[in-house]
Amino acid sequence: MTATTEYPGNLFVVAAPSGTGKSSLVKALLELDSHVHPSISHTTRAPRGQEKHGREYFFTSEPEFDAMIASNAFVEWAVVHGNRYGTSKNSIEERIAQGNDIILEIDFQGALQIKQAFANAVLIFILPPSWAELRSRLERRGEDSPEVIERRLANAATEMAQVHKFDFVIINELFERALFDLKAIAHAQRLKYAAQRRARSETFKALNVA
Ligand code: 5GP
Repeated sequence: MTATTEYPGNLFVVAAPSGTGKSSLVKALLELDSHVHPSISHTTRAPRGQEKHGREYFFTSEPEFDAMIASNAFVEWAVVHGNRYGTSKNSIEERIAQGNDIILEIDFQGALQIKQAFANAVLIFILPPSWAELRSRLERRGEDSPEVIERRLANAATEMAQVHKFDFVIINELFERALFDLKAIAHAQRLKYAAQRRARSETFKALNVA
């Protein structure tokens, strides 16, 4: 069953294959827009580099993750590249009910599960401009072996096949243009009638409009 509760805060969900620049775009939006807050996911993968528990992720053991599934603590969870990742109910519902905008950067399986639980979630898919560009970005990143790059490209095809289920599509050809598009989506949500009615109730009252 799809939940249709209207929350004052927006729930933005961004999905994209790896190499499309999703993390950089979300990071830039968070720096520019103080109304948008990140959600911290749980993962069973080990921390990388400078990552800190509670900042990038809540790093969770397999038994702890099992216990969270059993206690129904997740809105969604999925296996991504062999590790489990999940969004806890705590990290979303109370915060959007209080009027905060939350952004989730998760894989497409999780994004579609979020839409089941929060019908008003705004699903955004980021596409690369071409296969050649996606391949060259993955190669330039220098993080992966040629086999891993081939696997990421094969996964990207599966992920991109889901794009029609998303509300918005951004093609990340030029970073600044893609960031403008992401900001525009966030801004447009705040111009919707219900949001304006809440945010500008005095103006509505003074104008004597409902
Ligand atoms: P990484 O391990 O590189 O940080 O993330 C790997 C993938 O897992 C990315 O595509 C990221 O968007 C996805 N991911 C991160 N958190 C979550 C989550 O809570 N749920 C789901 N379904 N995917 C997530």
